Amino acid sequence: MCGIVGYIGYREAYPIVIKGLKRLEYRGYDSAGVMLYDGNDIKLSKTKGKVVDLEAKALKEISTNGTIGIGHTRWATHGVPNDVNSHPHVSNSGDLVIIHNGIIENYAPLKVELIKRGYVFHSDTDTEVLVNLIEEVQKKENLKLGKAVQVALNQVFGAYAIAVFDKKNPDEIVVARLGSPLAIGIGEGEYFIASDASPFIEYTSNAVYLEDGEMANIRLHKPMKIRKIKDDSLVDPYIQELQMNLEQIEKGGYDHFMLKEIFEQPDVITDTYRGRLHANEGIIQMSGVEDNLEKFLNAERIIIVACGTSWHAGLVAEYILEEFTRIPVEVEYASEFRYRNPIINSKDVVIAISQSGETADTMAAIKLAKEKGAFVYGVCNVVGSSISRETHAGSHTHAGPEIGVASTKAFTTQITVLIMMALRLAKAKGTLSKTDFHRYLQELEIIPEKVKEALETNDKAKEIATIFKNSHNCLYLGRGYNFPVALEGALKLKEISYIHAEGYPAAEMKHGPIALIDERMPVIVIAPKQGHYDKIVSNIQEIKSRSGIIIAVVTKGDTQVRGLADHIIEIPETSDALSPLITTIPLQLLSYHIAVLRGCNVDQPRNLAKSVTVE
Ligand code: GLU
Repeated sequence: MCGIVGYIGYREAYPIVIKGLKRLEYRGYDSAGVMLYDGNDIKLSKTKGKVVDLEAKALKEISTNGTIGIGHTRWATHGVPNDVNSHPHVSNSGDLVIIHNGIIENYAPLKVELIKRGYVFHSDTDTEVLVNLIEEVQKKENLKLGKAVQVALNQVFGAYAIAVFDKKNPDEIVVARLGSPLAIGIGEGEYFIASDASPFIEYTSNAVYLEDGEMANIRLHKPMKIRKIKDDSLVDPYIQELQMNLEQIEKGGYDHFMLKEIFEQPDVITDTYRGRLHANEGIIQMSGVEDNLEKFLNAERIIIVACGTSWHAGLVAEYILEEFTRIPVEVEYASEFRYRNPIINSKDVVIAISQSGETADTMAAIKLAKEKGAFVYGVCNVVGSSISRETHAGSHTHAGPEIGVASTKAFTTQITVLIMMALRLAKAKGTLSKTDFHRYLQELEIIPEKVKEALETNDKAKEIATIFKNSHNCLYLGRGYNFPVALEGALKLKEISYIHAEGYPAAEMKHGPIALIDERMPVIVIAPKQGHYDKIVSNIQEIKSRSGIIIAVVTKGDTQVRGLADHIIEIPETSDALSPLITTIPLQLLSYHIAVLRGCNVDQPRNLAKSVTVE
């Protein structure tokens, strides 16, 4: 997965492409490159490293004028991150230039064939094979770029979002997508191309999101033509009005996007339930659920598919949905589900959760579930994303752009959506008493206030982070609703601080991990008053007797755990089912501060990317 950007119009392309790449760096950041066309020739600069490294190199290497340009920030799949493997890639003749997000799965036989025909390859990428295949088609059949791209794409398998430029016909860029996102911004006498709309938001609010299997010829001063790659049929462009604004995608005074996003949670949780939750009237209204209520009520089973943090939100949802609605729920890693021939039928409802709505494994799981006749419901953040289009119905989380690679506000807003779904279904099924239903609605409405209060643990989290920043291992324990929170806490720490951490159900600890406990092992225990408090107090005692160091997240005013723990983080009281929305906050802050103190790149941790559009 990577970020691609393109510009064709009357402005200088370089600053637009560079700024756009910086906004897309969450998608990949092991190398970056740019191609500019100045009216006469192609100028190319690319490097291993980040977009800032590219800027430094490009300024030395090329003149940066030109009103046509394309750029790429890479997350390597084929070939190590180095200068040569970086995009853009150029065809053997030097005429065609490509940027590519995705994987060309049959690149190897195609490469062999092209080598037989005299082509020479400089990189190890699948992308360089594609650009030369396009060139071969173009030469052999004497085709214009658009047609050659189409013929070539009909010969490849895999996933792609591409932008291709041809020096011989320099007033157009040809783009295409299959499985990787691609948005086209439409301005007055100019077009923008990008993996998401953030690179062009300050220039235009009109955008077309290409659908899978579509391509477009983007020509100066001409209306854009979109056609199907397979059969060449023309498609009417559906122009969307974008709703994000520039401030939403900038850091807003915080040192890192991750911290900004942690602190945004009270507001975005409110955005998530706005217009859906009417606590005083006792109503929850989510159009996707309302329109398909029968499907949910007749479901014999709900299967949740997701990856990473979204999978943890799915685990929380399993507990909530089963308790509130009494519908059996299974939670699956999308990457396992798609390859294990699961038993699914038309009585199943599959809920797919993904922040970006582009997660490749989750997309594949959705396709599989649809093929087997299940009703598929999406919970994702990005409007217009592949998952929101591919599912039968769904709910957006309305968390706003999440730029920090480690997911924070996506998690809490996903849980908010899933709690609302569970409450709505419970009401329809009569599986929750009226009193409980109303109590939960009231409580959910004031949850943003409690999240705000939980954010006041920031200083305490920083103080604890200072003590434990050099730990090599950490154990996170929780029970019930807070077991998935323990998993999520451990994942956050691993992702951004590179400290090994494990999340465990607290009682399960004695079946193995307890052997790890000694005086050097910090154990973070989520022990709010509601839930299995007494049980978890016993678990804390077990750790204490083995000299473990206890950092406990407790309800304000707690005295019992305070007497046992080495460090205490106090959070406001909530009912058990809603507690993950609160208990997760200090854990996010703790990982953030540990990572900062260790000098790690919080927003762009090594080896990761925000939106995992490869399997
Ligand atoms: N497969 C291509 C490569 O390895 C593109 C990867 C990406 O999406 O960044 O260069």
